[in-house]
Amino acid sequence: MPRIRKPVVPGWFDQDAADFRLLGTRCRDCGSVFFPREDTFCRNPGCAGGELDEVPLSRRGTVWSYTDGRYRPPAPYVSDPDVEWRPYTLVAVELAAERMVVLGQAAPGVGVADLAVGAEVELVPGVLDEDAEHIWTTWWWRPVAGASGREAAA
Ligand SMILES: [Zn+2]
Repeated sequence: MPRIRKPVVPGWFDQDAADFRLLGTRCRDCGSVFFPREDTFCRNPGCAGGELDEVPLSRRGTVWSYTDGRYRPPAPYVSDPDVEWRPYTLVAVELAAERMVVLGQAAPGVGVADLAVGAEVELVPGVLDEDAEHIWTTWWWRPVAGASGREAAA
């Protein structure tokens, strides 16, 4: 039986969209954009708005910070101790239009040596985990080929 592809968090992205984007919400009154999405009230303390529309976030941003996880965190972090730990890279990406920073894992094969603050990255569909019945989908950040950053400085 084929496994079911499911987003790790429903409503944060459309895993099957041709134009893959994170989905936030924008306040109709003040224009503030929220991610994770806020659907019930505007979190801007100076705004009484309560109507928010879903908006796709920018597909590209710039690296604001980054790090990697080289060892298994202790409990309560959930992981299978019998499975070999695979290091991963985390990237905080600044989206200029939305004036926010969004975290995410870097695409497989992208390490801290491939990143630099200010370098351009783009959002791509990713897989967080797989089990017998599901493929849990997520988003990854990937350096934009030929963009400014470490490569350009070399
Ligand atoms: Zn507002």
